[in-house]
Amino acid sequence: MDLEGKVAVITGASRGLGAGIAEAALARGVSVVLCSRSAPLCDEGPRVRVVRGDVSKEETHEALVAEAETHFGHIDLWVNNAGLLEPVGPLRNAPTHSLREHFDVNILGVALGARAFLRHLHAKDRAGVLENVASGAGRNVYRGWAAYCAGKAAVDHLSRVIAREEADRLRVYAVAPGLIDTPMQEQVRGHSLDRFPQREKFRAAHAEGALVAPRAAGDQLVALAFDADAARDDVCIDLRD
Ligand code: NAP
Repeated sequence: MDLEGKVAVITGASRGLGAGIAEAALARGVSVVLCSRSAPLCDEGPRVRVVRGDVSKEETHEALVAEAETHFGHIDLWVNNAGLLEPVGPLRNAPTHSLREHFDVNILGVALGARAFLRHLHAKDRAGVLENVASGAGRNVYRGWAAYCAGKAAVDHLSRVIAREEADRLRVYAVAPGLIDTPMQEQVRGHSLDRFPQREKFRAAHAEGALVAPRAAGDQLVALAFDADAARDDVCIDLRD
């Protein structure tokens, strides 16, 4: 419980990596405000508050800040983790509404979350840590993942800009977490080869037991934010390095 008094907002906490980050934060004494559209795994309690909402909406982020300020007073760490993979397949086949939803969640959702956190830090004249969950897909080309690769590349560059703009009060990371054993990875393994030709790489990693447990990645993200010896100099990092 060495991080008692610290407060984290975590989006996409109903399953997968977000649930692992929440579990890791709670285990170290951090109070959390969790966000997702469906119910998070943790029930509300003295150190857990829940906001059900869509990260592509401004009001969701305003509600997260309000919930944190009302119950815990301030926010030390904001994790923009919520994300989606679809549309998968060649860009020529992607429906407009699906591309729009993707960028609304994976880019706009991150920008709105970062902005809400920054406004909170400035209003309270505090310092903080922002972790935007990025991906190796933002740094490499995967055929069939045009929206996902482009969105995650945008998260990297957005994070670099914020790091320069807010250097006096914010540590910012765009974190590629590696291959995490989550429902999204199950989705990846389930795609047809014509939609996702690199599927076998992910099936092989799963078969070899190479996927990381969400809680283990969550422990790394919490340490990155709060443990001096885990802090990194670069903005865009990979937890596997
Ligand atoms: P996941 O299992 O599909 O979970 C995604 C989470 O995001 C869920 O809690 C979901 O909750 C939430 N979410 C999705 N759309 C949302 C929206 N519009 N508003 C609020 N919450 C929303 O995915 P995951 O594998 O844990 O991925 C988490 C993050 O890590 C994503 O940004 C992903 O791109 C990134 N990542 C994952 C891997 C991996 O190997 N798994 C690798 C690299 C990067 P609801 O559906 O209840 O809203």
